[in-house]
Formats: sequence, C-alpha cells, structure tokens
Amino acid sequence: MRRLLILIPILFLSFEAHALQVMIDPGHGGIDSGTSHLGVQEKDLVLKVAGYLKDLLGSNPQFTVQMTREKDQHVSLSERVKKAEKSQADLFLSLHANSNPSTRVKGTELYFQNSLPPDEESLLLAEQENQAEAVATNSAKSVESPSKKGDIMAIVEDLHRQHRAKSSLQITQLLAQDWSSAAIKQAPFYVVSKTTMPSVLIEVGFLTHPEEAKKLSSVKYQQEIAQKIYKAVVQYKEMMDKIEGQALE
Ligand SMILES: [Zn+2]
Repeated sequence: MRRLLILIPILFLSFEAHALQVMIDPGHGGIDSGTSHLGVQEKDLVLKVAGYLKDLLGSNPQFTVQMTREKDQHVSLSERVKKAEKSQADLFLSLHANSNPSTRVKGTELYFQNSLPPDEESLLLAEQENQAEAVATNSAKSVESPSKKGDIMAIVEDLHRQHRAKSSLQITQLLAQDWSSAAIKQAPFYVVSKTTMPSVLIEVGFLTHPEEAKKLSSVKYQQEIAQKIYKAVVQYKEMMDKIEGQALE
C-alpha cells in the first residue's frame, strides 16, 4: 500500500503537462510609434493590451510569460526574434494596430505564415511593419544552403516547420473563433517569418476608423481584447496537451 501511495504522485507528475512559455511582442516603441491617428499611438495601445494579457497569463500556473518590451522603448525586429529564441518560447504573439487610407475600414486581422501566397494589401502592410528592419536584413543575407545539411537534420527541420505552420494556424483559428469580426490573412511579417516557434501577429483594429479608435483607447476594450487572446491561448494549450498526451500513449 505504501508503495502505491508513493507511485501515485510519481504517475501524476509524469502526466502533468509542462507550462506553455508565451512571448508577447508589443509592436514598435520608443522613437517608432507605429501608426498614430486620432490621438492614439499604436505603440502605447499595444503595450497596454500586452500588459493586461501578461497579467492574465501570469496568474495561471499553466503559463510562463515574457514580453519583448515592458516599456516605451525601441526594440528592433531582430532583437524581438532573438529574445523569443533565447527564451525558447512555445508561442509568439505579436500585437499591432492597423491603419488604412479609408476611414471606413475596421476590424481585427490575424496574420500567420504558411505557404499560400499573400494578397497585395497584406504584402503592403507587412512592408510597412518591416520597414525598420529593411536595412539590417539587407546587410545580413547569408542563408545556409539546405543541401549542406545532413539528411536527418533536414527531415527534423522539415517536421519542425510542419509543426510550426500547423500550430500557427491552430492558434490563429482559435483566435478567430471568438473574434467573429477577425479576418485570417497572411503576409511575410518579419517577426512571424523569422521566429521558429508557432506565431501569430494580431492587428487589433484600425486607428483610422473613428469609432474603432475610440473603442481601442478605452481600458475596457483593451481588457476585452486581452481576454479574447487569453481564452484562445488557454484553448491552444489544452489542444497541445491533448496531442502530446496522445503521442505518449
Ligand atoms: Zn505595427
């Protein structure tokens, strides 16, 4: 009986899923204010939403959470990616706010990366968001040829890429489920292209839309956004644990 009592906690421990490490990436910061309209600056808005999201995730022991920036400071896109890689994050969530020449365009947009070609408008947006990084990227274009790597390495990397693309789509779909107005799109944003973990870039709304800008600047709506993202991340974790559990059976 005593042996059984000792075994129970060991069994429980072996089935306990590990905490999901989330890296929240509030876009822009410092001299780079992002888009700025009707008195609302993108860098401030996304930092606030990120803070609420960090509090929600941080209060749940199923998650560990970090941010690429905690205050109004400039962090380059490559530094953001480096931070995520260094901390071995399981999930990368980049937060941004949108703008459009038309003041009638509104809504949430969710960007993930896979092999489908992006539409022209998404490409333009990615270009705008990536601008800060253009100089740095051009000077560091040394990509290792895949043929130089061993076959097994190539297979492992391919599996990893497949897992990343699939998981990125899953978190994006979970976000869209609760966000009826959200559109799923794709574009080569630097941070979602260069990170090796599942990632999604969330454009929380359009600052050029007068009503949406007003809503986005309210604490209540910022908390609502954080809550929506939190809910999707919780569902994502449940999904991942289930897959992991099945693999162990
Ligand atoms: Zn942005």
